[in-house]
Amino acid sequence: MSDGKVRSMLETAVVVKVSEGLHARPATQFAKLAKEFSCSLQVLHGSTSADAKSAVKLMLLGIREHDQIVLRADGADESDAVERMARFLSSPEAGAQSATLAQAAVCAADEAAPPVPLAAVDGPDGPPPLIGVPASEGLACGDAYVYLPEPLQAKRQSIEPHEIDAEQARFNRAFDDALAALDPPFDTIGDHDEIAEALMSVARSDEFAGEIRTRIAAGRDAAAATLEVGASLAASFETIDDEYLRSRADDIHGITRQVVLRLTGQQDASLAGLTKPCVVLASDLTAPDLARANVANIAALVCTRGSATSHLAIIARSHGIPAVFGLPVPDARLRGVQQVAVDGTLGHVWFEPTSAFQEQFTARIGEARAHRTALDVYRDVEPVTRAGRRIRIAANLGAPAEIDAARAVGAMGVGLFRTELLFMNRRALPGEQEQYDIYHRVAQAFAPHPVVIRTLDVGGDKPVPGIAFPHEDNPFLGWRGVRMCIDRPDVFKPQLRALLRAATLGNVHAMLPMIADVSEIRCVKALIAECAQELTTEGIAFGEPKLGIMIETPAAALTADLLAPEVDFFSIGTNDLTQYVMAADRANPHLASLYRSNHPAVLRAIGMVCEAAHRAGIEVAVCGEAAAQPDMIGRLIGLGVDELSMSPACVLRAKKIVCEW
Ligand code: PEP
Ligand code: MG
Repeated sequence: MSDGKVRSMLETAVVVKVSEGLHARPATQFAKLAKEFSCSLQVLHGSTSADAKSAVKLMLLGIREHDQIVLRADGADESDAVERMARFLSSPEAGAQSATLAQAAVCAADEAAPPVPLAAVDGPDGPPPLIGVPASEGLACGDAYVYLPEPLQAKRQSIEPHEIDAEQARFNRAFDDALAALDPPFDTIGDHDEIAEALMSVARSDEFAGEIRTRIAAGRDAAAATLEVGASLAASFETIDDEYLRSRADDIHGITRQVVLRLTGQQDASLAGLTKPCVVLASDLTAPDLARANVANIAALVCTRGSATSHLAIIARSHGIPAVFGLPVPDARLRGVQQVAVDGTLGHVWFEPTSAFQEQFTARIGEARAHRTALDVYRDVEPVTRAGRRIRIAANLGAPAEIDAARAVGAMGVGLFRTELLFMNRRALPGEQEQYDIYHRVAQAFAPHPVVIRTLDVGGDKPVPGIAFPHEDNPFLGWRGVRMCIDRPDVFKPQLRALLRAATLGNVHAMLPMIADVSEIRCVKALIAECAQELTTEGIAFGEPKLGIMIETPAAALTADLLAPEVDFFSIGTNDLTQYVMAADRANPHLASLYRSNHPAVLRAIGMVCEAAHRAGIEVAVCGEAAAQPDMIGRLIGLGVDELSMSPACVLRAKKIVCEW
């Protein structure tokens, strides 16, 4: 030691309070902080340990919130280092995204898929369709454009000793180029900068770039080394017992692919190559993939992966591109397809339709277009039934990107803003400011019409990477919706605070999903009061949103008279109400004949709810799929429903039906 004294290393045990644990962003920041010190720093977690200066090694420890770890430091500035690093780990906000975000997070989409018909349905004249998830409404028929990445291979495995320097330089060029291209031109996720930084730090780490350079120095071809290192590092991530960290493997596969493409002079197919309208067939697409295309040349999208709630589905809907996702065929089946017909409303796809079929299908497309144009006259109509009842037709939205589509059809406000979609398809939970920006933006866009923001409804069929859901045998009957929120004020309160702040606009309403008991409403009211008190103390302006609940459990329907005095409005979630009343899983195509919102049991429940609500002087909306179904609209109005809320694509048709009813 330079000062001549004997120094022993320092060890401190710390309980990790970092919200959601040391995932990519906090791990990157933690490693960055560690590098400010000259001492060596180790993190011990159970029987494993890692160098605190390596973000990748830290991530691979899979440290979760509430885990106990030991910090071990050895060197001149060890006490300072341990003190600062322990402080970092003790802060729930450590590694959180920056508070001011330019853009609202746009993560995912809209509608729960309508029940898929039990049996394959015949097309106009031809074979039964393949049935996937209806992700964006509309019909299309035409040439296929198959967009599947080719498997990559190194052209050789090893190099001669005299080639090593040139090979290192070749790798460095390809690597820098690939990293520069990582910045997606079409990114709508607000915390992109921090995410990109975490991604870059993984790419530049000793475990990725460092290891590749070591292998090249030992005589390995750069592409071969990159493929090997990428595969093995991704495999390490795939074994982590944390869903979010496990999915970092995809990032590593992505970087590996980009570097190898540059090294081998190959190019991935690009949608930029589309020069005429085609039906794009793919396994999956990313938003940047789509951004490179002229969307006018995408007649429809068919993917073997993805869901109606994916980021891509929302973009497809906002561009009016019919889309079917999750088509149950192997990717290889897509290769060689020449002609495709797509019904995005039903989720039906036909490969190689006959010319007679194509003719009929094209006629249907023409009719649909004429029909849509004829509906335009209803845009500014505020529909009233023949008997003189005013019915509000509002839109269901999942992201601000859908605002324009809803306004374009004259939606009279938002009857359901599914906030959980802001929490999905991203790497960290959105913070209060980000949520406030979004709620404020949506409310402003529809003022003075009401905008109903539903509080987080995750669990069951809707897991979120940032929230650790325990395994449940019956997740649909489990810890979901408001149940989870009440137990996790750390997740719920930022949302409530954002809602209260947005409510200064006057048209913001809050709505609680999955209510089964009056105590849940009272619990949330207490949390709202707590948030209001905090905001007052902090001198932050806020308003008082109207508070409503979703009626989607049989318990809520049966006790609607007890719940009504507690709230300002009801909105019936027929998607869930039908599944719970009928005891028929909404996602199980084999139960489609039972899963019917027009079943007398469901209709009776709706009638009871309307009666109880009106007796208490509050209004009832329906925001499940049934609200848009032409054969249900009249029945719902007849039962007393005051508002129907639906996908923007169905608004004009619903207005017409109401006017004619
Ligand atoms: C419903 O259950 O009807 C509803 C609108 O909510 P979600 O489809 O998001 O569960
Ligand atoms: Mg629901």
